[in-house]
Amino acid sequence: MLDVIAIGEVLIDFTPADPTARGNEQFECNPGGAPANVAVSLSQLGVKTAFVSKVGEDRFGSLLHETLLRSGVDVSGLSFTNEANTTLAFVHLDDKGDRSFSFYRKPGADTLLSPQDVPLDRIESCRLFHFGSLSMTHEPARSATRTAVVKAKEAGAMLSYDPNIRFSLWETTESAKQNILWGMKYADILKISEEELSFITGINDIEKGSLALQQQFGITVIVVTLAEKGCYYRLPAHEGYIPGFSVKAVDTTGAGDAFMGCLLFKLLEGGIPLHQITQDQINNALTFANAGGALVTTRKGALQSMPTTDEINKLMESKQLNQDSWRPGFHFSPPSHWLNDPNGLVYYEGEYHLFYQYHPFSTKWGPMHWGHAISPDLIHWQHEPIALFPDEHGAIFSGCCVVDWNNSSGLFNGSHGLVAIFTHADTDPESGQPRQRQSLAYSSDKGRTWHKYAGNPVLAEPGLIDFRDPKVFWHSKSKRWIMAIVAGDHVRFYGSENLREWSLTGEFGQMEGSHDGVWECPDLFELPIDDTGKTKWVLIISIGDNPACPEGSRTQYFIGDFDGQTFINDHAADHVMWLDYGRDNYAGVTWSDIPEQDGRRVMIGWMSNWKYANDTPTESWRGSMTLPRALSLTSREEGVVLIQMPVREIEQLRNESMSWSDVKVTPKTPFTRKISHDLLEIEADMDIGSTDEVHIIMKSTGESETVVGYDPVRQWLFIDRTKSGRHEFHSSFSSKHGAPMAQENGKIKIHIWLDRNAVEVYGNEGLVVLTDQIFPDAPMDTISIQVKSGQVILDSLRMDTLRSIHISKNLTEQTSRRADV
Ligand code: ADP
Repeated sequence: MLDVIAIGEVLIDFTPADPTARGNEQFECNPGGAPANVAVSLSQLGVKTAFVSKVGEDRFGSLLHETLLRSGVDVSGLSFTNEANTTLAFVHLDDKGDRSFSFYRKPGADTLLSPQDVPLDRIESCRLFHFGSLSMTHEPARSATRTAVVKAKEAGAMLSYDPNIRFSLWETTESAKQNILWGMKYADILKISEEELSFITGINDIEKGSLALQQQFGITVIVVTLAEKGCYYRLPAHEGYIPGFSVKAVDTTGAGDAFMGCLLFKLLEGGIPLHQITQDQINNALTFANAGGALVTTRKGALQSMPTTDEINKLMESKQLNQDSWRPGFHFSPPSHWLNDPNGLVYYEGEYHLFYQYHPFSTKWGPMHWGHAISPDLIHWQHEPIALFPDEHGAIFSGCCVVDWNNSSGLFNGSHGLVAIFTHADTDPESGQPRQRQSLAYSSDKGRTWHKYAGNPVLAEPGLIDFRDPKVFWHSKSKRWIMAIVAGDHVRFYGSENLREWSLTGEFGQMEGSHDGVWECPDLFELPIDDTGKTKWVLIISIGDNPACPEGSRTQYFIGDFDGQTFINDHAADHVMWLDYGRDNYAGVTWSDIPEQDGRRVMIGWMSNWKYANDTPTESWRGSMTLPRALSLTSREEGVVLIQMPVREIEQLRNESMSWSDVKVTPKTPFTRKISHDLLEIEADMDIGSTDEVHIIMKSTGESETVVGYDPVRQWLFIDRTKSGRHEFHSSFSSKHGAPMAQENGKIKIHIWLDRNAVEVYGNEGLVVLTDQIFPDAPMDTISIQVKSGQVILDSLRMDTLRSIHISKNLTEQTSRRADV
């Protein structure tokens, strides 16, 4: 039994080749025709396939016959005629490389296929019948095609259809449309391009257009091909986009046919009835088809370029490697899917807890859960089951955790435990507006299981639409809990005796600091200033993306005092201080309840930016955290400022150490080292002497390089990630940006942590910080320090390779941990 029979046009494509020595045009002779290509693609993948068509009794007819035969296709249904020549198509490329065709088909042998030529007995017993529309442009081939399609349908075969519109082959556009629509009635599997879909349905939106076709014709599998972007599919129960493969395309002829062949191969191989295909199965089949389509574009011609299973699998594996190559080695990332803000940071009974905004079913932001991880040392993490699921009050937005040591909440039966205070987000049923209210959850078993408080929500302000991200701490002076929470353009402070009842004590910020975006994720804490014995309060405010600001979302801080009611700013209202001058540090907050004898205030941020967070090129996961950083205050001329350095625990990752001192770098003598490790810490103390710019260049084995530089004239520390690797996913990603940083006696200190997906740069011992994501094309392998002019002296230079942290996973069944009440 044959698996597949394909019917339709077969022809010679004459594709442009290099001109002759005299400058005359030359054409290369390439066998083609969409259904013939599909037949060869299937045969190449091991499917028993026959092809039905007609060629002329001429040299080209024999060539097509031979080529199909050699490709393993059953050609007993390929007949010859002396009434017309074999169809020819000349391909012309314009200056931009766009293609147009001249067809020699008036008539062409393939249009003379008659119903008598169709092997109806064989069609009756095949599993799948494939057809297009170009064999319906003229009689008698139109009747032959229709007879075959009707027969296949009656016999219960699956029918696949690729309309493949070429207007110049039709007598009128209307006739094209009517004949194409005829085919739709019989199709079980339809492959269509965006332009074809819009021509047929009159709808430009592919989701709506495919829905219209599904509703009108009941087609089970509709796939819209999107060239290098991959494809979109619609099944009765689900739909989605499957990304394409990035390859160097030289000739896109036949991509759609290889795609079709690969898709049909996968559907036949699985043997699953079409209407029972699961999401995983269609994902898998279309990924395979995208890879097949992509491979054909990497070589000239179509029919003779069809890929093998091995080639396709290889491309798919290499992509897998690429995806994983951006998994951070020592930054926290989720087990899979989407991560954003850190939440619920708390230290309790020997463990650091990290909760985070998590979408467990998608790599884009969506209904928020609280993901969870636990660490003994802030560096090595174990993934825990999801802590908080959305419920009848809505999704679980950002918030905090505290240890209720004295059971002031009454939730712990005389003992102590963890209380999470977070924002519940849903829609107000009366106004239809978004609604954000504050709620509690608690855990009596060290954060392993969580119970939502029965009296949720505990704090609502019906007039405020943006009202979120509560951060709570115990204020010992006034002996009560204080909540800092944002409301669009200001922060509000509430007090409570029991974490359940809250009353407003103050507001701050409406006219202060930066208002480039909505205020989010506040934090408020007190820190000592150097060793002076004095303290100041730090108020952290993240501000959301504003399309007008290239920086996107970022974090500012205020220095001042907290009087138990509200915050009092030390600076003028228009004074703005930025926490991080890189592009990827947002929503950072600090750990609660780190023991007094440790005394540190440790912050972690989400290492992404709302400008492009949903578009970064990782696939199975998206989003990671910055390194945890210890915060301190120092007094400078301009006032008290924040200093940040990664927590000392990070030092345990150091593996091999290399160091140098007194190295002179000039334009002719750069300092360059090959490093066979892509996780690195680099610490350079430099005398910047007479140079006009010094660069620390981190280069990959491919083309990517990320530059950390210092411009002594501008006194400017910067990152240049314009050549750092993938950037096309968003126009604002490729950028060079920096921060003012003064030299101290002609010297600067730069301390870098380089991961597979990010670089963190600390200037002058944490006075200036830049954190950036990068997506290099290959692992880093060279570090080079260069100057454009003059010289710098590397007083000391140290490089440490770093160990990866291998985040382990608590494999407890996710659902068994679900203990919401
Ligand atoms: P058609 O020939 O049907 O118009 P497309 O040009 O959209 O189809 O290509 C079909 C499939 O081939 C796409 O869905 C994609 O999987 C793959 N493909 C096409 N062009 C490229 C490309 N330049 N890079 C990677 N994949 C491609």
